[in-house]
Amino acid sequence: QAEVRFENVCFSYKSGREILNNLSFVVPGGKKVAIVGPSGAGKSTITKLLYCFYNLNQGRILIDGQATESLTFDSVRQQIGIVPQDTVLFNTSILENVRYGNLNASDEHVLQAIKDAQLAQFIASLPEGVNTEVGERGLKLSGGEKQRVAIARTLLKNSAIFIFDEATSSLDSHNEAAIMATLQSVSKGRTTLVIAHRLSTIIDADAILFLDQGQLKEQGTHTQLLAQNGA
Ligand code: ADP
Ligand code: ADP
Repeated sequence: QAEVRFENVCFSYKSGREILNNLSFVVPGGKKVAIVGPSGAGKSTITKLLYCFYNLNQGRILIDGQATESLTFDSVRQQIGIVPQDTVLFNTSILENVRYGNLNASDEHVLQAIKDAQLAQFIASLPEGVNTEVGERGLKLSGGEKQRVAIARTLLKNSAIFIFDEATSSLDSHNEAAIMATLQSVSKGRTTLVIAHRLSTIIDADAILFLDQGQLKEQGTHTQLLAQNGA
């Protein structure tokens, strides 16, 4: 179970102001840590840095004690599976959409990922592996079903670390609750970083970090944070 560690990370985009200011935190192996904070706080930047899209100005990011700068991009990215806010689907079958990015995966593994993402129940023809309604403008799936495709993709990748980057932000509250339940079940025992802007979506996190202007302002469990804020 991989540990993720940010150590005194400072970062700014090209010639801009500092976005992350001496940020340190740990996601212990197998645990779930959530980062919440207002828009512009630097939450998505954390995901991008972990995925090695940019170099740090200062500090280090370690995966299982190894600095990402000493690893290849591929080996870092192999260890990380991201469920993003909006998922791009192609105008082809659910199976091929789930297989996207893991072209060598067997049908058996693809179907298992679909089951684990609780997607099969939404798609009557799936057991045969046949595609379902494919419209001219892509698969006719609801927002929640699309997120299940994204979850299945990430499961198929079978990476040590999960990142849910605002994975439920574009859903209505009913779908959000259903997808959160699926995310909870698939992330159990796996190192997970959840980026969210609503506290209500991350009640099961082992720790919640409150980020504002690139710095950690508070941290604790859901109960502790609610108590501190007098709610
Ligand atoms: P959050 O996810 O918390 O909303 P972000 O990490 O997306 O915050 O953004 C933090 C800050 O960095 C914002 O002020 C944003 O405008 C800026 N920013 C994000 N991406 C870029 C970029 N590619 N180039 C320059 N500034 C950026
Ligand atoms: P097998 O289960 O056939 O022995 P391995 O465990 O050796 O396969 O893994 C072969 C490839 O399949 C690896 O890339 C691994 O990440 C992937 N894989 C293994 N199990 C699963 C699974 N349950 N879902 C998705 N991919 C998997």
